[in-house]
Amino acid sequence: MPVTTLTIGTCRSVPGDLAYGTFPGPDLPTGGTDALAVIIASGKHDGPVFWLTANIHGDEVCGIPVIHRLLTPELCRQLRGAVVALPTLNPSGLRTRRRHPYYDDRDPNRTFPGVRKDPGEPREPSVYERLSARLLEAIRESASYYVDLHTASIASVPYAIRDRVLYRQDSERAAAVALSERLDHMTAAFGFPVVMEYRVGGYIAKELHRSTTGAALQELRLPAFTVELGPHTVVDERNARAAVIGLRNLLRWADMLPGDPEPMPPLPRPALAQRLRREDGPYPPAAGILDYRAQPGDTLAAGGILADLRDLWGRPVGDGVIRLDRDAWILGLEDGILAYPGAAIAHLAVPEDSPVVDRWPA
Ligand SMILES: [Zn+2]
Repeated sequence: MPVTTLTIGTCRSVPGDLAYGTFPGPDLPTGGTDALAVIIASGKHDGPVFWLTANIHGDEVCGIPVIHRLLTPELCRQLRGAVVALPTLNPSGLRTRRRHPYYDDRDPNRTFPGVRKDPGEPREPSVYERLSARLLEAIRESASYYVDLHTASIASVPYAIRDRVLYRQDSERAAAVALSERLDHMTAAFGFPVVMEYRVGGYIAKELHRSTTGAALQELRLPAFTVELGPHTVVDERNARAAVIGLRNLLRWADMLPGDPEPMPPLPRPALAQRLRREDGPYPPAAGILDYRAQPGDTLAAGGILADLRDLWGRPVGDGVIRLDRDAWILGLEDGILAYPGAAIAHLAVPEDSPVVDRWPA
């Protein structure tokens, strides 16, 4: 796309420089709108357009300084094409330090266009469904690549989440395989450990195909993925620094920056060689108090003890331990120490055993 004519909301690119503006957000009953800040970093020469967003969950702040650090005059001097960055997709959540916007109490990262999990009665699109539909149109019109920055639980390691590529008709399969391979190369270039999204049933049940990068991948067939940058609410310096390096390396991979990849600082890596998939678990057999025995970044073998389980008096509940039922790399522990039956106590990466290119379920 010509960098001279790229316009997102009120932000019009300036070749070789940074440009600032806003994308119209929800109208507020008290006047004005919750406009989204837009920054466009442009090179002097035309090239791909790389979309980068953060903070759709209002308490996940680490991506904001990552964007501020990446988009500099120095970047513009070397860049081919443009980086379009929206530091927050959820200004109301950022202000209130809450995951959801206060005027639409659903997960904003499940509001992008796509098949509704439970279509039910026809209903008006919500505040965020309207905003997300307009955002996806802006992405459709301009983006060559897309990365969305998130964070996870307080005790968690940084990683990239790669969705599987879904297709509806047999005739779409070859293109889906090609897109999946491109996404593998893209996530590898970023340099964080890569974890596949949930299996297709859980993916659709959780409406992850209606997330930012899920919708961009499934609806627009755009190479797109999500990054988890460790703890919510605070900025983890190591993860922020690594993300800036990873993003510059992605721009090199996309032939938007010159030079060889920069070395990535040491990050926790799984001691499991095969492709991994995100999964929640294990599930406690009874309520109680958790005493975690493992840390995020540890790799545990099947049968390994993740936590002790006691009552508040300190007596063992059941056999007193919660074990893993398969090999897993520990991505993160749930915030807190409370165990309830049916509530997973950790976020795991387990060996992938389902196809990375799959058919939409009927
Ligand atoms: Zn998030």
